[in-house]
Formats: sequence, C-alpha cells, structure tokens
Amino acid sequence: MEDPIEHRRRGVLWLNRWEVRPRDTGWAISASVHLDGPKDADLNPAQRPREPCWMSLILQLDLVKCGIPRGRITRTFHPKRDSGLLRCRRKGKQMKRIAVLTSGGDAPGMNAAIRAVVRTGIEKGWEVHGIRHGFAGLMAGVSQSMGARDVGGIIQHGGTILGSARCPEFKTEEGRLKAVHAIRRLQLDTVVVIGGNGSQTGSYELDKMGIPVVGVASTIDNDLYGSDPTIGVDTALNIALEAIDRLKVTASSHERAFLVEVMGRDCGYLALMAGIAGGAEAVVIPEAEPEPEKVANDLRSAYERGKGHAIVVVSEGAKNNAEAMATFFREQKDRLGFELRVTRLGHVQRGGAPQSFDRLLATRLGAEATRQLEQGKHGVLVGLLGGKVAATPLADVVSRKKSLDRDFLELAGILAK
Ligand code: ADP
Repeated sequence: MEDPIEHRRRGVLWLNRWEVRPRDTGWAISASVHLDGPKDADLNPAQRPREPCWMSLILQLDLVKCGIPRGRITRTFHPKRDSGLLRCRRKGKQMKRIAVLTSGGDAPGMNAAIRAVVRTGIEKGWEVHGIRHGFAGLMAGVSQSMGARDVGGIIQHGGTILGSARCPEFKTEEGRLKAVHAIRRLQLDTVVVIGGNGSQTGSYELDKMGIPVVGVASTIDNDLYGSDPTIGVDTALNIALEAIDRLKVTASSHERAFLVEVMGRDCGYLALMAGIAGGAEAVVIPEAEPEPEKVANDLRSAYERGKGHAIVVVSEGAKNNAEAMATFFREQKDRLGFELRVTRLGHVQRGGAPQSFDRLLATRLGAEATRQLEQGKHGVLVGLLGGKVAATPLADVVSRKKSLDRDFLELAGILAK
C-alpha cells in the first residue's frame, strides 16, 4: 500500500464522498469520508489522476438508521477491488447510472459480457445496475446495483446470471412506455442490451423513445446483422460437433444413417458450419432446401462409394426439418431400403460452458459497449466485423438481413464426396 501522505502530495485525495453498500446485508448508506487531506477545491484539476489508487481511509459511518450502533470503522479500501462496496461521486461530475440486461434466447458468453460491462463501467466511475429477466424486468422496474465482486467467477458459466425472458408485451408501445417510466424512476441514464435479433429490435424501439441504448450481439443463431459471429455461436457449434462426432462412431459401427437437427431458427449458419466441420454427407438449411428424395439419394450414393456412415445435418428452421425428414424416411423405408435415426440437439446446444472464443468475444463487446456510452454514442449494436470490434446503427441492424456465404454451401457439397 502506498503512503497516504504520498497520495496527498500527488493530489489523489480528490474523493470526498462515498456511498457505502455493504453487500449481503440489504442496506445501503451514504457516508462522508473524512479524509486527512486537501478537499477537491484545493487541487489543481490537471493534477488529478485518472485512476483512483490505493488509499487508507477512516470512515465515520452513521449506522443508526440501519439499526446498527453508531460506530467508527477503520479499514483499507482499494477503489477497484472494493468497488462492489464503494461508490464514489466525483465533485462537479454527474455519475452515470447504467443498466445491463440479457434478453431472448440465452447464449454461452452472456455472463462474460455482463462481467465486462459491469467492470468497465465501474472503472469509468459509473454505477452499474443489473436488470433481471430482460425487458420484463425493465418494465417491472426492478434493478440491483452490481459491483465487481458480483460478477466474479461467472466468466466460465453458460446461461446468464441476470436471467433472460421473452416478453411479448415489450413489442407494444404501451409495454415499452412502462419500461421508459421505470427507467426514469430508477434514474438510469442508459441501458446495455445483450441479446439477439428480437432483443435488438426492442433496443432500437427503446432508443427511439429517448432512452439511450447500446446493444451487444449475442445469439447462438448467428442471424444478427452487424456481427459476423455473435456471442455463443462458436460454443454452440462445438457442442453440435461433439454430438456429430459421437453419432459418427455409432453410425460407422452399424452402417446406419443419422440425422442431427441443430438450432438456428431461420438462419442455416449453425447447421451449415456443423455440416462442414463435422464431415456430414448432406446439409439441409432454410436458405437451400434439398427435397428429402435428394437427401436419400445422397446418402445411398455415399454408402455405394464405400462410406461406413452417413450423417445429415438439418437446421430447425428448414421446411424439411427433423420431423418432416423422419416422416418421409419412415414412410419410404421399404422403397429406400434403409431408415434414418433422428437426434434433435435442441436446447443442449445452449447450455454449454462458453469456450475461449466466446469468452473473449463477449469480453471485447461488453467493454466496447461502455466505451461507446462513454463517447456519448447510443442506438448502436456492438459486434465483430472483419475481425474488428465495430458499432453498427441499430436502424441498419433491424432493417437488414444477414446473408449466408454461398461459398460455404458449395464447399459442403464438394467435401461430402
Ligand atoms: P432473440 O433476442 O434471441 O432474437 P426474441 O426474438 O425472442 O429473442 O426477442 C426477445 C425479446 O425482444 C422479445 O420477447 C421482446 O420482448 C423483444 N422484441 C422482439 N421483437 C420486438 C419488436 N419488434 N419490438 C420490440 N421488442 C421486441
């Protein structure tokens, strides 16, 4: 720890008021900090360091309101490490209060994004509030202050500690007005929305109503314009691949054909990439739908070419999805001479622990969201474009459709030979 006298000489003691929020107790109190040093007015603003440093403080807390005997607490605080306990107010500068929420389908990496928003927000001297259950929580107007410790140990977990929800009411003007009133009541300045296509449409609508919003691209469907890969898709792809690899083993042993249905809604990205990386014999996606008869022919010709297994990867959004394919192959079993075993991965794909790519992507995008807000920007989605973090206007995000790279489709066909 550095010497407080040294701090004073360097003009570090520019904090003169703290809000103390002992976590886990449910109470939050303000306290004046009696610093043995010069007041703000004594300091030359040019000398003020950008970063708070270690300092030893003696706090005289008025704890009577909390039912705790008046007392004197002496301890050492580190403004960064203890930022969950302490909030600082800078004289002459309004502190920003930002909210962060996760919405729509959960995606591995959402927690890493929340963590990055919270910690980079605190670093900028802001108060960060978490809103539970997406837009539904926003409309209900319930928020919780989040500190650096509140997001500790979550980077490796899938899902979202804030919970997510689908909230049809938010699609209505009336529903969104409820959220606007709640945001004003909670005195929140801005909202960071971590979510997919639908959620970012909600972000756009909210931003148009005068609430500054920054979106963070997060969905395993990878159907969001403004980010090449979205948070979660890489982990979901790896889960699909693990399943395909295992099915291949059993398919080879029994010379059977298997169909694997993966998620992705109307976007075939996940299925196409799983098909290529998993070495599938056929891929069925909404953007390019072979008829079941063609799929059956592809599987038969793979068998005739000496392949010991046959895997079809189907996107859930395809017209000929797992159910339709299963029905066709069941009805045509005698004519085709073989049957197709169906595996639907469903939500198994969502729940995985985020892999390195998603953790890093989420961290970068979460940090970029607060950077955008710091620069006074809003009404944008932060994503990864051409390998670089970039912000795209939400107006473009909601009006444009992400197109599938047709080269990959051709490649999948060639490699299946
Ligand atoms: P995702 O964000 O994963 O695509 P959804 O499409 O289910 O998930 O959308 C999540 C939430 O976003 C919805 O439950 C709703 O609250 C909000 N939302 C979706 N579409 C709109 C819209 N057109 N206008 C306003 N809010 C919307």
